[in-house]
This record gives sequence, C-alpha cells and structure tokens, in this order.
Amino acid sequence: MPDFELSEDYQDLSDTVRDFADQVVAPVSAKHDEEHSFPYEVVSQMADMGLFGLPFPEESGGMGGDYFALALALEQLGRVDQSVAITLEAGVSLGAMPIHRFGSDAQKEEWLPLLASGKALAGFGLTEPEAGSDAGGTKTTARLEGVGDAKEWVINGNKAFITNSGTDITRLVTVTAVTGQQERPDGSIKKEISTILVPTSTPGFTAEKAYNKVGWNASDTHPLTLDNVRVPEENLLGTRGRGYANFLSILDEGRIAIAALAVGAAQGCVDQSVKYAKERSAFGQNIGKYQAVAFKIARMEARAHTARLAYYDAAARMLAGKPFKTQAAIAKMIAGEAAMDNARDATQVFGGYGFINEFTVARHYRDSKILEVGEGTTEVQLMLIARELGL
Ligand SMILES: Cc1cc2nc3c(=O)[nH]c(=O)nc-3n(C[C@H](O)[C@H](O)[C@H](O)COP(=O)(O)OP(=O)(O)OC[C@H]3O[C@@H](n4cnc5c(N)ncnc54)[C@H](O)[C@@H]3O)c2cc1C
Repeated sequence: MPDFELSEDYQDLSDTVRDFADQVVAPVSAKHDEEHSFPYEVVSQMADMGLFGLPFPEESGGMGGDYFALALALEQLGRVDQSVAITLEAGVSLGAMPIHRFGSDAQKEEWLPLLASGKALAGFGLTEPEAGSDAGGTKTTARLEGVGDAKEWVINGNKAFITNSGTDITRLVTVTAVTGQQERPDGSIKKEISTILVPTSTPGFTAEKAYNKVGWNASDTHPLTLDNVRVPEENLLGTRGRGYANFLSILDEGRIAIAALAVGAAQGCVDQSVKYAKERSAFGQNIGKYQAVAFKIARMEARAHTARLAYYDAAARMLAGKPFKTQAAIAKMIAGEAAMDNARDATQVFGGYGFINEFTVARHYRDSKILEVGEGTTEVQLMLIARELGL
C-alpha cells in the first residue's frame, strides 16, 4: 500500500520551515510586496538554514537531502509568501540543479558550493521574447571563436522573464543558445541547442529593468540582453547539442517543486479562510456557520489535499528512479489550478478585505495566476499528458 505519512526527518524539516515562514517571512511579506523589493534579509536567513543546499550532496556544500525535501520546504514557504518560495525554487531547481546534473567536475567545484550556500544565485535562461512554450525556437546564438585553448563562445541574443537574474547576489545565468545545426535520423536539419554558463559580470551581459508584474512582486524577474558576450569554451554545460533536452528534463523535475509551492498557496488560502470564517460575523453569527461559506472552504481543502497527493506521488516516483514526467505535469497543472481557484474563493470569503493588498489572500490572488503559466503553461502540461496517452 502506498504510504504518504512523512518520515520524522521530513516532518521535522517541514515544521522548521513552517515556523520560519510564520515567524520570519510572513511579518515582512506585505511590505516587500508593496515596495516590490527583494527580501535580502529573508533570503540570507534561508541560506543560513541550508535551504538552498537541500537536495545537493554534502561534498558539494549541500545538506545531503533530496528533491522531496526541497518540495516540502517550498510548500511551507508558498503558504505565506510565493515570492520568497519562487526565489528558493528558481535558485535551487533551475539555477543550481543544471550544474549538479550536467556540470563537469570543474564547473561543480566552482559553482555548486557557492550556490548551495545561498550566498549567490543563478538563473535559468531558457525563455526568449518570441520563444516560451516553444522554447526550441530560441534565436540566441553562440559561436565558437579562436584557436586551441583560447577558444571562446560569443553569445548574442535576448532572454525574457528570467527569475533571480538581477539581484545583488546573482552571479550566473545559464542560457540556451543555438550553436549550430544537427541532422535528424531522417536527414532533415534542426537547430543544435546547447547550454552555456554566463557569469553575470561578463561584459555584454545586461539584466534590463525589472518587469512590473501582477504578482510575485518581491521576486526578481528581468529581460536579459546578451551582446557579444564572450565566455571560455569550457563554460559549455553538458554535451554540445544536448542543451535543450537537458533543460527540458530540469523542467520535468521543476514541475514537482512548483507544484509543491502551489499546494502551499492553496493551503494558505484554506488556513486563512478557516480562521476568518470563525471570526467574522454577519447576520448574527460567524460566516463559517453558513453552509455556503463552509462548503466553499471544504472544496478548497479538497483541492489542496488532492494536489498535495499528486506532487507526493510524482516525487516518490522520481526518487525511486521511475518515470515521472506525466505525474509531474499532472501535479503542476492541478496544483496551479488549485492555487488559483482557492485564491479566488478565499478572497470571496474575505469580502471587501479580500481586495485589500495587505491581506495574504489578496496577495495569493495576484500571485497565483502565474502558477498556471510559469515552468510550462496549463496547455503545455495537457500536451505532455496527452502525448503520453498516445494522442
Ligand atoms: C514571473 C515569471 C518568471 C519566469 N521565470 C522564468 C525563468 O526563470 N526562466 C525561464 O526560462 N523562463 C521563465 N519564465 C517564462 C515562462 O516559463 C513562460 O512565460 C511560459 O513558459 C510561457 O511562455 P510564453 O510567455 O512565451 O507564452 P506562449 O508560449 O507565447 O503562450 C501563449 C499562450 O499560448 C498557449 N499555447 C502555446 N502553444 C500552445 C499549443 N501548442 N497548444 C495550445 N496552447 C498553446 C500557451 O499555453 C499560452 O496560453 C517566467 C515567466 C514569468 C511571468
């Protein structure tokens, strides 16, 4: 029989992050959201707790945990502050993980301890202004110039919506770029896409003005310009021509992490609504006594619960070394929808206060929309699931 009971270690981690989220993150969330400011002091405390190193081995400066541990931490942070949670999610599963999975020994040595410490952040540069869901349509190019040991990649292009790419502690963005052409087995030609490590101090790399977003206001998101950026040949990450496939596999895992964050958001909406429904009175009794309100909250709880089971299942398959792509897509889709639906219902339970930004449910209402878009839209998840069904 499957067992979804958390082990003592996982439960301890979840409880610790929950306390941290309630006591340290929550009190400053509304301020950072309103000011659109990156919460450096919170991120620094998360770094001290080892959260940025959770799934990495101790020899790489990590905590020796696993991807499920990361997901549990994201759920607890997502409950109170999605900006903080996405900063951790993007830092670990998109920023550092490609180096852990595909990096050379030298690249791991140079970057992993730094990124796992949380003292520095890396970004994942896949999306472009005209290539998102269809990221294989990348237009950024990298050509190898020079001779012998002095060869360099010269990178030109633009990236869009890159998380953690412009903070004061950002040190690296890994970008996909067209490095040539490849022949398919049937003889047709396709783009050869590779991934290349670009330290953000490299001349020609610019994190442009941050986006003015609907939500996730305390997270860092920029368009990037790469103008004749020159990096050494050794900055190629993984095998030349495997960059796109490697990044897609990073996104498969990432969907478990983002699902966990979304479950946290969905649960946060439940918790806030239960509390409010017990306190707020109308027509002589607490609004929670009205079945219309109680049923709304009961349905929210059902959404959060089933979405949690979906990401637990995907994570269990991943950790067991089994195929998990479809389950991760299902988890990401239903958790994102649960967060958005719960945010809409929670703001309804809160009445007029649900429309006032300082209330957590109002923030969840603005923040949750991107959960149906980022790291693959709902339609992309449906494409993956349908493809697995042979459709
Ligand atoms: C706050 C934020 C943070 C982000 N962080 C990062 C990051 O760190 N790194 C990164 O690389 N990217 C990042 N992204 C980009 C994000 O992953 C993309 O926005 C997303 O994948 C969608 O791509 P797009 O915006 O180009 O939309 P499009 O691909 O243009 O899609 C537009 C619409 O068309 C639909 N659509 C497209 N193709 C199909 C199809 N075949 N069938 C049916 N419907 C289809 C989509 O589902 C969507 O509804 C971030 C985005 C945001 C807003």
